[in-house]
Amino acid sequence: MFVGHYSVAFAAKSEKNKIPLWVLFIAVQFLDYIWATLVLLGIEKLRVIKGFTAGSMLDSYFHPYSHSLIAAVVWSCVGAFVYKTVCSRVRYPCIRSAALIVGLAVFSHWILDLVAHPRDLAIYDNTLKVGFGLWNYRNPEFALEIALLGIGMVFYLAQNIMPTIRKGAVITFGVALTIVQIGDTYVPRNRENRESAAN
Ligand SMILES: [Zn+2]
Repeated sequence: MFVGHYSVAFAAKSEKNKIPLWVLFIAVQFLDYIWATLVLLGIEKLRVIKGFTAGSMLDSYFHPYSHSLIAAVVWSCVGAFVYKTVCSRVRYPCIRSAALIVGLAVFSHWILDLVAHPRDLAIYDNTLKVGFGLWNYRNPEFALEIALLGIGMVFYLAQNIMPTIRKGAVITFGVALTIVQIGDTYVPRNRENRESAAN
């Protein structure tokens, strides 16, 4: 799952909760930021295998600290706590449920990854791995990503009052994300069985 994660950010933002959209963008990809950092540090392991799945060449075979279910719950709590703390420090309006929404946005990453990933998401540590493997089906996976993004954006545009220029910018951003997803899903790469530098 890639751009589909952003659907949750768009759908979660409302005039009532006042959570900045950029905060929700970070929240829905938070687990992947932790993952990328830990891979670069050599703590989590990744290898590139051509044809690993139809939609991805990344075999992320060891990522218990960013992508296990337990880790996702912990990071979701961290996200909610940090949001609540920062809001009260800078006196930003924060309704009671806002921190919970941020936490759920962080956790949504794991749920959507569960749909797309092959069986590489551990329940805890590096054991009991799950994943529905939609990445093995290129077109359905692409369709789901774009459908989710579209639905999220419709919710966002319906729930938030904004000038036309901002609406145009949001739709342009959605088109850009769609192009990124087309590149990610359909543009072939020529790397074969190359282990990442982090491995
Ligand atoms: Zn992920």
